Amino acid sequence: MTTENSFKLTYATMFNPPEELHQQFDAALAKLKANLGKEHGMIIDGKDIFSQEKIENRFPANMDVILGIFQKGTAEHAHAALATARKAFPGWSHTPWQERVALIQKAATLMEERIYEMGAVMAMEVGKNRMEALGDVAETIALFRYACTRMEANNGFVAEMGKDPLVGYVSENTSVLRPYGVWLVISPFNFPGALSGGPAASALVAGNTIVLKPASDTPWTSRIIAECLRDAGVPAGVCNYVTGSGSVIGQALIDSPEVDGVTFTGSYDVGMKIFRDFGMGRWVRPTILELGGKNPVIVSRHVDIETAATGIVRSAFGLQGQKCSAASRVYAEAPIYDALVSRVVELTNALKIGDPTDRANTLGPVVNKSSYKDYQEFVSELRASGKVLTGGKILTDGEYAKGYFCAPTIAELPYGHRLWKHEMFVPITTVGKVHSLDEAMKLANDVDYGLTSGFYGNDEEADWFFDKIEAGVNYSNRSQGATTGAWPGFQPFGGWKGSGSSGKNSGGLHYLQLYMHEQIYTRVRKA
Ligand code: NDP
Repeated sequence: MTTENSFKLTYATMFNPPEELHQQFDAALAKLKANLGKEHGMIIDGKDIFSQEKIENRFPANMDVILGIFQKGTAEHAHAALATARKAFPGWSHTPWQERVALIQKAATLMEERIYEMGAVMAMEVGKNRMEALGDVAETIALFRYACTRMEANNGFVAEMGKDPLVGYVSENTSVLRPYGVWLVISPFNFPGALSGGPAASALVAGNTIVLKPASDTPWTSRIIAECLRDAGVPAGVCNYVTGSGSVIGQALIDSPEVDGVTFTGSYDVGMKIFRDFGMGRWVRPTILELGGKNPVIVSRHVDIETAATGIVRSAFGLQGQKCSAASRVYAEAPIYDALVSRVVELTNALKIGDPTDRANTLGPVVNKSSYKDYQEFVSELRASGKVLTGGKILTDGEYAKGYFCAPTIAELPYGHRLWKHEMFVPITTVGKVHSLDEAMKLANDVDYGLTSGFYGNDEEADWFFDKIEAGVNYSNRSQGATTGAWPGFQPFGGWKGSGSSGKNSGGLHYLQLYMHEQIYTRVRKA
């Protein structure tokens, strides 16, 4: 999002936005609040489809508020959506790529026009603060546009290859990347814009037709993405949007032989199950998995404490610690350990918690009852085995009474405790003292995950850190966020090890190609 004074909203610039952004958000929020509680269908073959059972989408900051009624789709809906996507594939895949790009660009423009409305919806359904929510919408738009520009930069991925050295013949070779067919996108609750829209736009630009299934906690944001695609003129059946439980409609989609490729973003456990189940097909189909994280921050004795503490707190507690990229572990060298930890605790104590749509608040609630319960159980474990330095309690008085509010928590924990390796996905970060950077690196890499990481120290140490760390997205000396805040075209996003399967990051140079398979044409003529 840009404004007249050429402010560009990203996760790194969002801390000090122009006043105009707040005013527009407040206006959109007031309009949204006057229109809550309506029913929204799935979109299959361009039509609104309603199921017998419903999902009540509620505001996690006040569970009395029903945002909207959504459909609890069944296996039959999954099959209908796949059938219509199959039917639409020949037409869409043979639409010249320039026309597909024009339609996706138009959808991005429509989303830009609805950015405040979509930001307000997202803030309420996820419990994201307003700037994080607007950032997510802006990122979705950027991902739409990025997929288009990669298609253009590569001339639709048609390339002339070398001519065979034949005597008496001319042999011309062409490499073409072509879409797979019907692509399934399953997204998580925490970035319902970027993680639904990014894969969806890439699959569509590449010429696949899609079925999109968002998380049950956050169906509304994805519905707006599907509406923008429909309103831009993407033909019926090309983008289908279904809602309902992962174990029912999600599993039916995964089990169907009608799916030619899948992008799943979510937890490690569900992702690995999907990987295994999807592998039961008659042949190997592309499976892009973007999974969890357990992201370390290493702090050298040569640190600027204020920069490090600011970056750590932003990444530990942005979106209440519910980011795959959240800074969940900090390893600090002994000489600066006490100073760093005490500043981190001070900054954590200064964070304002409450209604995420209120501009004064940095933290909102966690997304649902299950996360609220997880937080309380993790805190009990931390109290039993370690030391809680701040936080460690749910907030239940006054304005907090009807929501899932948890105090941001910093705790010390003996190395070897399971929570050093477990993705908690709530506002809890553990800190530990190390006696050398090598010790920190060993601990940092000793997990199954490898998504993001952060480092604070001097330049020479940063070179060493980038060489040794086993993760896909890595930052040094970043006060805007130790481990969070990637942006398409700047920091393409993806994980190593248990954090991701493709080895090619979203919003990067090599991502769009994942949605196409290569075909070679050799034409031989007599010379
Ligand atoms: P989940 O794994 O619980 O759910 C993700 C999606 O999968 C939801 O749409 C869910 O539907 C669906 N699902 C669940 N079970 C099945 C199934 N059997 N078959 C098909 N689909 C299924 O993740 P969360 O939504 O809780 O998101 C948090 C997780 O996502 C964290 O682990 C986080 O690290 C990870 N994540 C990774 C990112 C990355 O880029 N690497 C980015 C953001 C998040 P339903 O909601 O109905 O259960």
